[in-house]
Amino acid sequence: MSSPLQSAAAARAGGRLTIDLAALKSNYRRLCEEIGPGVACAAAVKADGYGLGIGRVGPALADAGVRRFFVAHFDEALRLKSALAARTPSAVVAACEIFVLNGLIAAPSADYLGEDVRPVLNSLGEVDQWHKASAAADKALPAALHVDTGMCRLGLPDNEFQTLMSSRARLKGIDLRVIMSHLACADMPDHPLNQQQLAAFKEIRAAFADTPASFANSSGIFLGPDYHFDVARPGVALYGINPLPGRVNPMRQVVRLQGKILQLREIDAPQSVGYGAAYQAAGPMRIATVAVGYADGYLRALSDRGHAWIGDRRIDVVGRVSMDLLALDVTAIPGDAAVPGTFVDLFDPETGADSLAAEAGTIGYEILTSLGQRYHREYLGD
Ligand SMILES: *Cc1c(COP(=O)(O)O)cnc(C)c1O
Repeated sequence: MSSPLQSAAAARAGGRLTIDLAALKSNYRRLCEEIGPGVACAAAVKADGYGLGIGRVGPALADAGVRRFFVAHFDEALRLKSALAARTPSAVVAACEIFVLNGLIAAPSADYLGEDVRPVLNSLGEVDQWHKASAAADKALPAALHVDTGMCRLGLPDNEFQTLMSSRARLKGIDLRVIMSHLACADMPDHPLNQQQLAAFKEIRAAFADTPASFANSSGIFLGPDYHFDVARPGVALYGINPLPGRVNPMRQVVRLQGKILQLREIDAPQSVGYGAAYQAAGPMRIATVAVGYADGYLRALSDRGHAWIGDRRIDVVGRVSMDLLALDVTAIPGDAAVPGTFVDLFDPETGADSLAAEAGTIGYEILTSLGQRYHREYLGD
C-alpha cells in the first residue's frame, strides 16, 4: 500500500521506476534451477543493487534464499546490513555473509572486524594483512580468496598464487569461506578463454578441497555444470538483463521505466527540434517533450536512436537528449493517447533495458546502474 504522500510524489514525478521484486525473486529461483540442488547461489548486489536500490533488493533476495552477498565497496556492505536489519528476520540476517570484492584496500581490517563484513583478499599482501589481523585478534577470521585466472583485474596473479602455495602458513588464521575467480568472456560461450580459465580454476580449487569454490557470474551459469562449482555468483540476470546475448532471455523483466509528457508541439512548417538543431522536421509532426534526460541515466547516446512506447505503439526519440528532457515523435499517436501528464514507457516492454542498451551502444548493466535518483520508485510484489 502506498501512502497519500507517496502517491502525491508519484503524481508529481517526471519519471517512474517500477521494480518488480516478485520477478527478481523468480529470477533467483530460475538461476537456482539452472545450477541444480547441490550448488548454492549467491548474489552480486554492488552499485546499489545494480541501480535498483539495495534497500529493497537485498532483503528481497534474502527472502528468496540468498545467504552470500557480494558488493564492491565497504560502505555498500554497511547499507546492505542496515537494509537487512530493517526488513529481514534476525535468524536469516545471522546466516548472511557479505563479501566486499574490493578487499582490504576498501577499508582497514578493523572496520571489517567491527562490522562483521568479509573482505575478498585480492593479493598476497592482503593475505598477509588478514593473517596479522587474525593473530592480533587471536581468532580465525573469515574471508574470501580471489585468484586471477585470466581477467587481469582483481585477485592474486599466478606468481603470487604460486608463492602462496609454497608458503601456505601465510593462510594460518584465515577462515577461508570462498575461493573464487571471475570469468572475462562468460557471455561469449565459444570464446577460448572460458576453457582456459576453467582449467586454471580447477587446479586452484584442487588445492583448497574443503573450501567452497565460486566461479560463475550470470552468463557463466549458462556455460554448463562444469562452471558451477559450489557457489554461483550472479548479478545482472537477477535484475532481468539477458545473460545470453543473441538468444532468448530466460529471465523475467524486473524494471519498468516511464517518463511523463510535459508538452506537445504541433509543427507545420519545416523546423529543427532540440539542441544543435540536430533533428530537422521536414513536414507536419507532433512532438512530445518528456521529463527524463541524461541526468536521469537516459544516455545522451540515445539521441535520435532511442524508442519509447505508448501502449504497444513504438515511437522514436528525435533530436538530442538533454539533461532533463527528451523529445518523442508522437505524430502517429491518437491525440488523446499522448497528452501532458501521460506516462510513456522508456524500456521495451519485452526486452527491457537490453534493447535500449543496444541502441545506446552499451550493455544493460550500464543502463541499470545509470538510472538516476529523480525517479519515483515503486516496489511491487514484496
Ligand atoms: C559483478 C560481479 C559478479 C556478477 O556478475 P554478473 O555478470 O552481473 O552476473 C560476479 N563476480 C564478480 C567478481 C563481479 O565483479
